[in-house]
Amino acid sequence: MMLRFLFASIIAGFALIGGSPTIAAQPRRPASMPTNRAQTNQPTPNISYTVSMSRPSTHLLEVELRVRAMTQTPLPATLDLRMPVWTPGSYLIREYARHVQDFAAQRGGNQNESTPLGWTKTNKNTWRITTQNVPEIIVRYNVYANELTVRTNELHDRHAFWNNAATLMYVEGFLNAPSTVTVKPFGNWKIATGLPQATGSNTEAGSQTFAAPNYDILYDSPFLVSDFKLFEFEVRGKPHRFVVDGEGNYDLERLRADVPKIVEESAKMMNGLPYDNYTFLLMTHPTAGGGLEHLNSTALIARRFSFAQEESYRGFLSLVAHEFFHLWNVKRIRPDALGAFDYNNENYTRLLWVAEGITSYYENVLLRRAGLMKSDDYLKLIGNEIRALQSTPGRLAMSVEEASFDAWIEYYRPDENTVNSAISYYDKGALLGLIFDLEIRRRTDGARSLDDVMRALYTDFALRNRNYTPADFQVVAEQVAGGSLDGFFNSYVRGRGELPFAETLQAFGLTINATTDTKTPAKAFFGANLTQDGERLTVRTVPAGTPAYEQGINTGDQIVALNGTRVTLTSLNERLGERRPGDEVTLTIFRLDELRTFPIKLGQNTQGDFRITPVQNSTDAQRKLYESWLGTPMKTVTSDE
Ligand SMILES: [Zn+2]
Repeated sequence: MMLRFLFASIIAGFALIGGSPTIAAQPRRPASMPTNRAQTNQPTPNISYTVSMSRPSTHLLEVELRVRAMTQTPLPATLDLRMPVWTPGSYLIREYARHVQDFAAQRGGNQNESTPLGWTKTNKNTWRITTQNVPEIIVRYNVYANELTVRTNELHDRHAFWNNAATLMYVEGFLNAPSTVTVKPFGNWKIATGLPQATGSNTEAGSQTFAAPNYDILYDSPFLVSDFKLFEFEVRGKPHRFVVDGEGNYDLERLRADVPKIVEESAKMMNGLPYDNYTFLLMTHPTAGGGLEHLNSTALIARRFSFAQEESYRGFLSLVAHEFFHLWNVKRIRPDALGAFDYNNENYTRLLWVAEGITSYYENVLLRRAGLMKSDDYLKLIGNEIRALQSTPGRLAMSVEEASFDAWIEYYRPDENTVNSAISYYDKGALLGLIFDLEIRRRTDGARSLDDVMRALYTDFALRNRNYTPADFQVVAEQVAGGSLDGFFNSYVRGRGELPFAETLQAFGLTINATTDTKTPAKAFFGANLTQDGERLTVRTVPAGTPAYEQGINTGDQIVALNGTRVTLTSLNERLGERRPGDEVTLTIFRLDELRTFPIKLGQNTQGDFRITPVQNSTDAQRKLYESWLGTPMKTVTSDE
């Protein structure tokens, strides 16, 4: 998963290419997934879904579910149908059942097909059907789909995108059962999904039927149905499809050149591609962004005009690399609680800092190795990430294991206090990935790296169909590093210690925050994060320890004047920029509609600029480690330069 807001960029032309009528043309083998879930003793029924979208402007996905007894035995007297409360990869209870309407059940089979069957809801997401022991039941309901994110559903007159966990109810006791999904597209829309087409399926024109061997795979395979564009490519003999839905300033030829490099670089690192085929589902949107990982596909949303400007395009490629790398790290290299999934409750794990954080570390590593990001830009980016972490007071209030465990109530539910009370397992996890990578490289003189940890987790756990625990991760990391990492895990994984950036980078001939500009006097520091919304300049968050925090500024305060003169965000920054640490100013503020005045003594930001630069007179050992890590020679800086 990745939430991302790409930078604004200029509008440019985009290329159009023709798409083939379907992107799921041949039957494909499903990807592997565990089936270690408790199973019912009931004989497995035949389960088939049909999803239609006859009136896109209503935002209603029309679902029909048929459950038919496979043997002479009739269906049990009652059947519970359940809508998942969340979808894997996005760790929040989303209550998908609230979008269900028009639920009805009836008898199936040739005779009495229209006889209604009784049903009742037994909890928020369970519908219990009184089957009267008939051999087949038909259930119909609609799902309101009007929210475009990678973990929700949207249907309107341009496209349909849905996650099956948010759309298709499962039959209680049969999460391991196979099922089929027939999609009836609107008009002549095409269908894209990672699911294979069902063999021997014979459906009406335009419709297609797909097969899932179990619900973990069914719920892992979103559908995109529209008049999308498409290009295809092969890497290591495996077919890949890149589907683009929506207008924007993307350059399909450029994507066609760059995306395979990410795939190839990942395959090089992980020794191959563990799927038969892979589908990228990209949707463009005016403002939204994000991605969600799946076993052999990914859903991506990017801002429509974010593809032309270099920095935002690179941000998009890191999103692609992030979601793609997840096909190993989290989808196959599975943390303890993540698969087989419990779709009715939170699935707690302390390992999201590995699943998300280390994936975030590799998103940029892969771009750099693939030649899509220069080493200098990479080091600049790490410096920016360190600055963001170090200006978040919450980094000292929560460990990455705690952040992982509380994702369900913290990361996905941020509020104005989050900056002071919590840390993102993405942000700190990515930097922890960097620290682990560099520490392993330093200890092994560049012979081994975090890559070896990921490969070992893949070989020892994913390929043996075992989930790994926090203890397993430490054991594997220590085996690769050739010694104990207990101090590291105690301080930085289980503990809340500051990450040792300077010491770690030193071994690689790099220094951080070295610029001591003594000529320019220090600037004044206020410390509140502000937002200008129309005429209103409002305090968004107040990080602990800043002058704003210490002197009583609150989230939601509307700043109207500095020393008696009206300010906007721009003019406030300009005028504070002329001040020195220790200066006193008066802020006039509306708080709960009362006009208030606050004298504020400005402080000094001692954090530095977090620029990462080569040390002077680097040693051979430092240069060797630098080059083995970044793949480029180190720029020489001598003391007399
Ligand atoms: Zn992710």
